Amino acid sequence: MKLLLLGAGGFLGSHIVELMIARGDHEIIGADISDAKLAGIEGSNFEFIKADLMGNTEFVEDLIKNADVVVDLISMPNPSLYVSDPLKIFNVTFRRNLEVVDLCVKHQKRLIQYSTSEIYGRPQANTYQEDITPLVMGPVTNQRWIYAVSKQMLERVIHAYSLRDELDYSIIRPFNAIGPRLDYLVESGTMGGPRVVAHFVSALLEAGPMYLVDGGLQRRSFTAVQDASSAFATVLDSPEAHNQIYHYGNPGNDTSIKGLAELMLEISEELTGKPSGAYLEVVDAEKFYGKGYEDTTRVPPDISKLRSIGWEPKVSLRQTLTETLGYYMRQRGRL
Ligand code: UDP
Repeated sequence: MKLLLLGAGGFLGSHIVELMIARGDHEIIGADISDAKLAGIEGSNFEFIKADLMGNTEFVEDLIKNADVVVDLISMPNPSLYVSDPLKIFNVTFRRNLEVVDLCVKHQKRLIQYSTSEIYGRPQANTYQEDITPLVMGPVTNQRWIYAVSKQMLERVIHAYSLRDELDYSIIRPFNAIGPRLDYLVESGTMGGPRVVAHFVSALLEAGPMYLVDGGLQRRSFTAVQDASSAFATVLDSPEAHNQIYHYGNPGNDTSIKGLAELMLEISEELTGKPSGAYLEVVDAEKFYGKGYEDTTRVPPDISKLRSIGWEPKVSLRQTLTETLGYYMRQRGRL
């Protein structure tokens, strides 16, 4: 089969490309505006097209026409941007992806759409189940919810198309995937920007502050990127995954953000044999993100649906953080 990966140059995309090259059983066409995260990733079944997919509908249509399965990874998972540029988030997350959905309907292609765990909004259950748990957002004036609502609307449109036009889809809702090539590093001490693990890596490399937004008691269930990629493969391969929504996440890796910081401090010392000099510092959410942010504690996902078609997360939080930190330390010549 010919798989088209839109957003192949991102964190998740680059790891899926690696896995699919190793498998070698499908032809992979990747498209993205950047190939930086794909440096050194090559395979005889992989072709990369560097292109700005925004506002380039004809080009995207040609790519979709020539594919068997379309994997839509186009996204901006960056809470800072939800607050500072909500319309950009809407345009990419909803408008752009809606065009992809429309084209998959027009050309009758299978669509694997990446969504988000953010979709659950405020916690209102002990665990999240794909087809049961309500989606509860904060007020419009907390513009951070625009990402979650854009993804929610996209999911609803996809489902509606499956009912009317028999669109063949699978939706994947990732829960905080982490690993090498995650986001980007900023100068330590920067407010906002990338997600928490990238921030903490910068602090550890530069002996800077590890900011605990509002005290860091909020929780996340982090998933190793290898498990994230194998979740993709399971959904791709399973005959039962058609017109279904799946989580991937690792309830065994559930931690508070403070716990994450403490574990990363410990791992850094284990890797280098000396204290990093980084330190914990509590910061107010509005100072870190600006006005319009609202935090959430995310309860661990129910992953029984994806388990029922053969997937199992295997990598512990300690292991994936060791790999991630090790990757950045080697890149900076620290190991
Ligand atoms: N956070 C933090 N320090 C940072 C960056 C983020 O305490 O340097 C918090 C943030 O407020 C949130 C959690 O860490 O509660 C996870 O944030 P992230 O941006 O990684 O992703 P999210 O899961 O919110 O999409």
